[in-house]
Amino acid sequence: MRLAVYVHFPYCERRCPYCDFATVAEERDRIPHERYASAIAEELSARADELRGFELHSIFFGGGTPSLWASESMGRAIEAIRSRFEPSRSVEITVECNPSSLDRAKVCELRSIGVNRLSIGVQSLDDERLRFLGRLHDAQGALRALEAARSEFERVSADLIFAAANQSEEELLRELDALLGFDLEHLSLYALTIEEGTPFFERLRRGKLPMASDERYARLFLEAEARLLREGYRHYEVSNYARPGGESAHNLAYWQGESYLGLGAAAVGCLPLPNHRAVRRKNRIAPNEYLDAPAAEAQEMEILEPLDRLNEALMLGLRLEDGLSLAQVKERTGLDVLEEKGRAIQRGMERADLVLEGDRLRVPRDRWLRLDGIIVDLF
Ligand code: SF4
Repeated sequence: MRLAVYVHFPYCERRCPYCDFATVAEERDRIPHERYASAIAEELSARADELRGFELHSIFFGGGTPSLWASESMGRAIEAIRSRFEPSRSVEITVECNPSSLDRAKVCELRSIGVNRLSIGVQSLDDERLRFLGRLHDAQGALRALEAARSEFERVSADLIFAAANQSEEELLRELDALLGFDLEHLSLYALTIEEGTPFFERLRRGKLPMASDERYARLFLEAEARLLREGYRHYEVSNYARPGGESAHNLAYWQGESYLGLGAAAVGCLPLPNHRAVRRKNRIAPNEYLDAPAAEAQEMEILEPLDRLNEALMLGLRLEDGLSLAQVKERTGLDVLEEKGRAIQRGMERADLVLEGDRLRVPRDRWLRLDGIIVDLF
C-alpha cells in the first residue's frame, strides 16, 4: 500500500498576520536544527510497527518554513524516512520554501540531499500587497527565488494569495503573467481567508481590514481560471493548477483518501486499521513539547469509522476535477456511496451540481464557486 509522508517544520522567521498554522517565530540560529532531525528519526523508530508493509510514495516538508531548516539536518530526516521503507521507483520529495530563505546556494543544497520538487510561497508579486500581508520578501525577492529554483529544478510550484486588499482583476492577471514567465509546472491559488485568533481577525473585527466582496472574489477566481486554462494548465483541484503530469502527487494522496503519515510537531496522519476503520493521529503542537515528549506519544488519537471515512472521501474527493472513484471508496470503507447518500446525490444531479459518469462522482467545474454548499448538501 502506498504511503505519503508529511514532515512539519514548525519554525518561521516571523509570524504573518493572517496565518493560523502551527508555527513559532524563531531566529534561524536558535532553531534546534539537528535536534529536530533526531526527533523525526526517533519518532520513526518508535512507530516502526505502524509502518510495515507500506511503500513510500512521497515526502512533503511543510510548515512553518522548511527552507529555514539546515539542509544537512533535513537530509538526515530524508535518509531516516527512506531507510524505513522498501526502495520504490520514484519518490516525490517536496520542500515548501519562502523567498526570504531561498537563494541559488540553498536550491543546490536541496537538490543534493534528494529533494526533487520545490513549492515557493510567493503569495504576491506586488510590493504593496506583500507589505499588507506582512511578508518578509518583496516582489524582486520572490522573482529571484523563482529564478534560482528554476535554474536547478524542473518541478516548481508557486503559491499565490488572491482577493487580498481589494485586489482588482487587472492586478491579479499582472501577477499571474509575471509568474507564467517562469514556466512553472504547478500553481496554487488561495483566497485570503481570515482565521479567528490572528491579528487580521482583530483588524477585521474593528472594521480596519479591506476585504474583497463575494462578487469580486468570484470574478477573480474565474479570471484566473480562464487565463491559466488558456496557458495549458489544468484546474485539477479547486485551488490548484498543473501542467499535464505536473500534479502534486503528495496532495493528490490526501484528496484521494490514501494513507499518510505525519511526523514532527503538530503533524497529523491517518493510517488504516482492520475492518475498514482508520486512526487519525495528531502530534503535540508546541515544538518544545514535541521535542521533550517520548517519541511515540501522540497528543490525540481519533478512530474513524467506515462512515466517517466515506464522508471524508466525499469532502476531499469532490474538490478534484476528476472527482472520486466509488469503487475505491468501497474498497477502503466497505460502504457503497450510492447506498449511503443516494437521495442526496440524486438531488445534486437534478440540479446539475453533481455528475455521475461510470464509477466517478464529481462536481462540474462551473459549479465550483458553490462547492462548499454542494458538499454540505450531502450530509
Ligand atoms: S511564513 Fe507561512 S507558515 Fe510562517 S507565519 Fe507566514 S504564512 Fe504562516
